[in-house]
Amino acid sequence: MPMFVDTSPPGQCIFCRLVAGEIPSAKVYEDALTIAFMDIGQVTPGHVLVATRRHAATLLDATPEEAAAVMQTAHRVALAVQAVFDPPGLTLLQANGTLGGQTVAHFHMHVVPRHEADGIALTWPRKEPPAAVLAGYAERLRAAL
Ligand code: AMP
Ligand code: ZN
Repeated sequence: MPMFVDTSPPGQCIFCRLVAGEIPSAKVYEDALTIAFMDIGQVTPGHVLVATRRHAATLLDATPEEAAAVMQTAHRVALAVQAVFDPPGLTLLQANGTLGGQTVAHFHMHVVPRHEADGIALTWPRKEPPAAVLAGYAERLRAAL
């Protein structure tokens, strides 16, 4: 369970207030659709958040243009992080919903420099179901696209 969850209504959430300049931030980049700023928690030095300017609670609430713009800004920021901090690894993380690990309900992506024994962990419990099960999942998803 996350230690902190921002339950503010849309337009009043931490990142909306940050976009509006009502709370301070160490800004890295902004354009028409996105804003990038240093994560206050700095899991590792150089940890940046890329968020939509508009309040969209999760990826599912973002427009295709916003989703693409966040990834484009994350790519640009990742290149800068690599140039400045030169980490041996780099992880992009994007969480949706409390169970998805999201603590601020305003769509954002983490750009996190990675190092040996940096303490970051995500367990990945593989199941490897039969091919027919995978085909069934894919068929349902194709029908939903
Ligand atoms: P998530 O858990 O994916 O929703 O990530 C939320 C992130 O927002 C956490 O890593 C926090 O450290 C970060 N955060 C919360 N408030 C602020 C703030 N005022 N400025 C910068 N980062 C923040
Ligand atoms: Zn917001």
